Amino acid sequence: MPDVTETHKGASTSTNGTVVKLDRGFPLVRCCDGAHVRCEHATSLEKNERVRAVIGDDVEVFLPEGHDKGVIVAIAKRRTSFVRRDPAERTSHQVLAANFDLVIIAEPIVGLNRNRLERELVLAHQTGADVAVVLTKADLAQDEQEAQNVCEQVRALAGRSVGVCAMSLEDGESIQAVRDLIGDGRVAVLIGKSGVGKSSLVNVLAEAEVQGVGAVRDRDGKGRHTTVDRVMVELPGGGCVVDMPGVRGLGMWDADEGLGAAFADVDELAQSCRFRDCKHIDEPGCAVREAVEAGELAQARLDSYRSLAAEIQSVRERRDEARRLRGEKASDRKKRKR
Ligand code: GDP
Ligand code: ZN
Repeated sequence: MPDVTETHKGASTSTNGTVVKLDRGFPLVRCCDGAHVRCEHATSLEKNERVRAVIGDDVEVFLPEGHDKGVIVAIAKRRTSFVRRDPAERTSHQVLAANFDLVIIAEPIVGLNRNRLERELVLAHQTGADVAVVLTKADLAQDEQEAQNVCEQVRALAGRSVGVCAMSLEDGESIQAVRDLIGDGRVAVLIGKSGVGKSSLVNVLAEAEVQGVGAVRDRDGKGRHTTVDRVMVELPGGGCVVDMPGVRGLGMWDADEGLGAAFADVDELAQSCRFRDCKHIDEPGCAVREAVEAGELAQARLDSYRSLAAEIQSVRERRDEARRLRGEKASDRKKRKR
C-alpha cells in the first residue's frame, strides 16, 4: 500500500475516503479515487475529545489547495464498531475499529483461556459484526484428536453463530479455512492476546511481511504505552484484515446485547425465570440456577456470566455518576455566569 502524502495540487476539493492506517502520525485515508492522504482532524472535531477517526472509519475529507494534508471534516455513522472501556480512564470508552464485517478472535489451541475467550466473545458480539474463533498453533497440540477436542469445546462454548477453526502456519489447508471465513470483499479485525500468532497469521494471509512477528510493539523501552500501528491489510484473494496489536485490556463497556449473544444458553434459560430482571443470584423461581442444580448448565458458566454482567453494570453506574457530576459542574458554571 502506498504510504505517501501526495501534495494536493489544484483547487480545494472535498472527497470521501476510508481510514486505512493509524500510527504515530496523522491518520492515513484512502480516498475514493484511490489516492492516499494523511489527514488531520478539523477543529470542529478536535474540540470534542471523543470524536476521532479510527481504522475503518468512512470520512469526509477536505483537501485545501496546495496543502500537504487533508482535513477530516466528518466521520460517517459507524456500521459496526469495536468498543472497550478506556484502560486509562475508567469512566470513558475507546473505539478501536469501525465498519468491519467480522471479528476474528485468536486463541491458542494449547493453553486456551476460557474466561478470556468469553470476554472476547461478549465484546465481539457487541460490535454488530459476525464473530469467529481461530485456534492458533494447532501444530502444538499433542495430536489431531486433541486439536479436534478443543475445537468442539470452543464450538459448544461459542454457540452455533460462531465459526470455529484451528490453524497452523505450516498447514495450507487450515490457512485457506481462515481465508474462507473472511470471504471476498469483507473486512475482518483480528483480536487476541499478544504472542498468540496474530501477526504471523496476517503475514501468511497477505503473503507478505506486513507485520513484525514476535515483536513487542505495545510499549516503548521505558515501559510506557505507545501508539501502535493499526493498518488495513488487503489480502491477495480478496478481503481485508486489520490486526489490533497492543490491545491489552478488554474491559467491558455497554455490552448487554453482546452478553446476551455470547451467553445465548444462559439467556434462553433466563426466559423461564420468574422475574424478568432476574440476576440468577438468589431470586425464587430462577430457571438458570435450577439448570445448574440439574447439571444442565455448568456452574463455571453461570459464574462467568454473572461476573461479566456485574462488570457491565458497575461500569454503567460509574459512568452515569461521572456524567451526573459533569452535568452538575456545567450547571454550576452557568449559574455563576448569570
Ligand atoms: P502476535 O503477538 O499475536 O502477533 O504473535 P506473533 O505472530 O508475533 O507470534 C508469536 C510467536 O508464535 C512467534 O514466535 C511465532 O513464530 C509463533 N507462531 C505463530 N504461529 C504459529 C504456529 O502456527 N505454530 C507455531 N508452532 N508457532 C507459531
Ligand atoms: Zn434467574
